[in-house]
Amino acid sequence: MSQTSSTPRDPYDVLGVQRDASEQDVKKAFRRLARELHPDVNAHDPGAEEKFKEAAEAYEILSDPERRATYDRYGHEGLRSGGYAPNFDGFGSIGDLFDAFFGGGSPFGGRAAGPAAGGDAAVAVAVDLLQAARGATVEVSFEAVERCEHCRGNGAEPGTPIETCSRCGGAGQLQSVTRTPFGQMVRTVTCEECHGDGRVPSQPCRDCRGRGRRAVKRTLSVDVPAGISDGQRIRLSGRGHAGEAGAPDGDLYVLVRVREDRRFVREGDDLITALDVPAPLAAVGATLQAPTLEGTAAVEIPPGTQPGEVITLRGQGMPALRRGRQGDLRVVVNVVIPRRLTAEQRELLVRLNETLTEENMRLEESVFARLRRALRSQAA
Ligand SMILES: [Zn+2]
Ligand SMILES: [Zn+2]
Repeated sequence: MSQTSSTPRDPYDVLGVQRDASEQDVKKAFRRLARELHPDVNAHDPGAEEKFKEAAEAYEILSDPERRATYDRYGHEGLRSGGYAPNFDGFGSIGDLFDAFFGGGSPFGGRAAGPAAGGDAAVAVAVDLLQAARGATVEVSFEAVERCEHCRGNGAEPGTPIETCSRCGGAGQLQSVTRTPFGQMVRTVTCEECHGDGRVPSQPCRDCRGRGRRAVKRTLSVDVPAGISDGQRIRLSGRGHAGEAGAPDGDLYVLVRVREDRRFVREGDDLITALDVPAPLAAVGATLQAPTLEGTAAVEIPPGTQPGEVITLRGQGMPALRRGRQGDLRVVVNVVIPRRLTAEQRELLVRLNETLTEENMRLEESVFARLRRALRSQAA
């Protein structure tokens, strides 16, 4: 847990339970929160991991009757002076935290008997707008749980026997009996000793200490398709954390961030750019160069172009991610009124103004109508 948070929050508040909540309520509340903060759902929320840690810490306090009683009487101060410290610092990612609390795989429901499937991994990657337009191959690096090569994932030091689990007799599961007012409830749970395998190594692998898996840094090339938008995720099936021997591997989710481009604003598949046009040229008309993704393109400015008018270059926007129409480039005319005039320039303009008639100044659309239209398109 980060040491920056001066006062930890009340664990009851964090989990959203009453002070007299039962052990079952506490567990339910934590599971619900954990599900909300799962990286599958929340890869875009950088605060999710911190929130999960906070929830996990609250759960750790409230799920232990002794710790809970200490907290109830003396608060966080009492827990600390009693030697308790939250211990989530060693976990690299939110995925590892889930592994720690839910025994690998998904936090949804209990673990089925048998070897556990690998958890999903998440990683973020940033591309610039041109890469997003053309598509790109980018490298991503992330921590992944991989099968241990030394023991090939079975957890035994090579050459040593693997024996039937003495705890469960090789079944991989145990019956858990709970007494309730309605009688005994029998539940089947995965054997902790062999993790559902039914067999345990007589001498655990020296590389992975018998776990059969270990964390490594993995680097992958990811194809980012042309037309991708900021915040979209690419799923690479089977490229997440390795499952236990005999179980499938998890998936890798790549969150794609598209860097902002100073020249363009993106609206769906359309791009919007601004083009400075000197006021005299806006009046007489001109051909100017506007920025495009690939370079520049000629833009015809008709005589009498007004500030804020939009000239559309068809098909010069972003490609459509799936089949469909290529986006447009919308060039917004920014009429620039000259400043810091010389005496001669000033005189020319004054003389020009004296020649202007009502016919020169009449607009097809009033300024107010145009303003209203601009506001509407902004709101849309
Ligand atoms: Zn090993
Ligand atoms: Zn067992």
